[in-house]
Order: sequence, then structure tokens, then C-alpha cells
Amino acid sequence: MELSIAEFVLLVLGGSCALVVLCTVVSRTLHARSESKSLAHRVICRLCLHAFEDSTHVKIVHCPQCQAANEKGRSRRLG
Ligand SMILES: [Zn+2]
Repeated sequence: MELSIAEFVLLVLGGSCALVVLCTVVSRTLHARSESKSLAHRVICRLCLHAFEDSTHVKIVHCPQCQAANEKGRSRRLG
């Protein structure tokens, strides 16, 4: 069976599309993994939106910029 030019182009286009989708999924997965890792200690100030890391186990942390009290672990999931 011989490939016509149209079939060949379709094959290349489909292949590159699949490659792009694959790369996107892989990079998103890796990014989400590293993000969730760092999110464990990530606090985003509710007042000035300053993001900082806090590795202590207290529930309320104070923003280093504006000293506002922030509740940990509620920056992303509301409710
Ligand atoms: Zn702040």
C-alpha cells in the first residue's frame, strides 16, 4: 500500500498534533505535581496577595509584608 501526498500530510499533521497534546499533558502533570508539593507550605495573603512559604504547624500565620493574619490551607479551595 502506497501513501498519497494527502495521506502523508494528514499523517504528519495528526502525528504532530498528538505530540503537542502529549507534551502539554506531560508538562501540565509535572507542573501540577511540583505546584502541589510547594502548595503545602504556600500561603497567599488575603490582604496584599503576597505569597510566602510557611513550614510551621500553626493554623494562623502573619504576612511578612502587611502583618495580616492568614488562615493556612484555604488559599485555593474555597468552602
Ligand atoms: Zn499581606
